[in-house]
Amino acid sequence: MQLLATLSTSNSSNYWNDWLIPDSNSDNIVDLPYTSDGALANPDESPQVYAYLNKDIHILTQPTLLFPNESLDSGYYYGLMTITWTPSSDTFGHEVRYSLHCTIGESDTWELIESDISTTWHSWNTSAVLQDRKYSLRITAQCNEELTRAYATNASFTIREHTLSAPIIFDPIDRQLVASTMNIKWEPAIDSWNHNVLYSVFYALEGSNEWVTIEEELESTTYRFYFPNFPDGTYMVRVRAFDESRLISNWSSEVTIVVVQILDELTGITVSVTLVLSLLVIVVYFLKKRFRES
Ligand SMILES: [Zn+2]
Repeated sequence: MQLLATLSTSNSSNYWNDWLIPDSNSDNIVDLPYTSDGALANPDESPQVYAYLNKDIHILTQPTLLFPNESLDSGYYYGLMTITWTPSSDTFGHEVRYSLHCTIGESDTWELIESDISTTWHSWNTSAVLQDRKYSLRITAQCNEELTRAYATNASFTIREHTLSAPIIFDPIDRQLVASTMNIKWEPAIDSWNHNVLYSVFYALEGSNEWVTIEEELESTTYRFYFPNFPDGTYMVRVRAFDESRLISNWSSEVTIVVVQILDELTGITVSVTLVLSLLVIVVYFLKKRFRES
């Protein structure tokens, strides 16, 4: 909190340099009363966006980055970024212009984004700059005489396109025969912004476009699918990946499976037949042995 100048001894119409937004109707009065977290007995109902003119002291107040600020630290961004900051005040009433700079990667050098800005925002096309680098921003205010005030943040964000690779089903393989249960397994989808990924599993009859959801929001990359009442037939299975914020999703290609439920019963019969045959062999062996001995 910094109180630059007051009109009266009352607690009203002051300039508080940490209370400059919002001013939606641009009347240079902040829309919300200033309370300073209860430190003031009476809130200032009409805090000023600009400091009062003062012919004795030449002060240029510091602008502060509103976006991107610390809330985007270690985050990601891509595309058009609207950078915003609080207005700077010049007590001599000089015209104030802003310039924006950034550091790229590990470099300490400030690179110019835009100079001679008269507004308190700037649209920056981040898809046109070096990708996969960390950026930190600095806003500088300059009056048309000698004063300059800058605000730099240590917070940095990475400019990178947000993509999600397709999950790839590797089990079952295409045209595999399956019985009434099977495991569907897929390679994880990778989110370029390091978001967690969730999966949904679908099936459709071969040749149909009516995909039925089997399971949603799976964290695992394996799902045990049970077809108790599915008629034998050819089905397609697909997996869809979503990033946790549901900003993007991606489909696997479909895998066709042939469901043959008789396979289960056949397996059972094979086991029984093998057991019976084995028993017969043993019985015959002992009968022969006894016959020889007698
Ligand atoms: Zn000035």
